[in-house]
Amino acid sequence: MTYLIYYEDPYVRKFKAKVVKVIPEKNAIVLDRTAFYPESGGQPADRGVIRWQGGVAKVKDVQFEGDEVLHFVEGDLPQEGIEVEGEIDWDRRYKLMRSHTLAHLLMAAVREKFKEKVPVVGSGLGLDESRMDFKAKIKREDLKEIEDIIRKWVNEKREIRIHLFESPEEANKLLESYGYQGGNLTEEHLKKKPIRIIEIVGVNADPCGGTHLRNTSEIGDFELVKRESKGKGITRIRFRVR
Ligand SMILES: [Zn+2]
Repeated sequence: MTYLIYYEDPYVRKFKAKVVKVIPEKNAIVLDRTAFYPESGGQPADRGVIRWQGGVAKVKDVQFEGDEVLHFVEGDLPQEGIEVEGEIDWDRRYKLMRSHTLAHLLMAAVREKFKEKVPVVGSGLGLDESRMDFKAKIKREDLKEIEDIIRKWVNEKREIRIHLFESPEEANKLLESYGYQGGNLTEEHLKKKPIRIIEIVGVNADPCGGTHLRNTSEIGDFELVKRESKGKGITRIRFRVR
């Protein structure tokens, strides 16, 4: 099992770890701990480098395989058992963190606007642009209003907390205090321990394994680019940080 450093501290850019396994046919490295984010929950995998005495490898992709994290690399392969240093491409990751926290605010702002829980039926974060699909008819005029709600929360400098719960009851207590507007615990969430909840204080709480900012103010400049009707009552909102 790979210990996920970013689970508790998403701001770690450089870390030391031990090589647990090398899979030459996949050009993959498994470490005992990692700050590299493996692609999941609509957030793309991190990039970066892994260095050790006498070698260096570029990390091209990162994926979960069971409870292990595979770093797919280009370059040298280390010996099993040695110590290495990992460094993630911070510019790329920080942009994804800003986008991910913005995505949570967008979800909350759509709910605030329509005064009811609006189901999210799809989402994807990107470096240039991200998207979120809502089961609701959202008009072009609504977009400005939704953007203003988000901007208010950004300007209010809301704190963001990571909660790690061992029991679903505890996790549900927090989700319930926010009216479950962020989302409910699914079978998928319950399979993983601890249960991780991201709370944007006073805004929402959402089960999520992604990397988030400490404060909404770090989102900085952003825009809701446009809305598109996807049919069947689904509207896609495209957004980005600048
Ligand atoms: Zn999330």
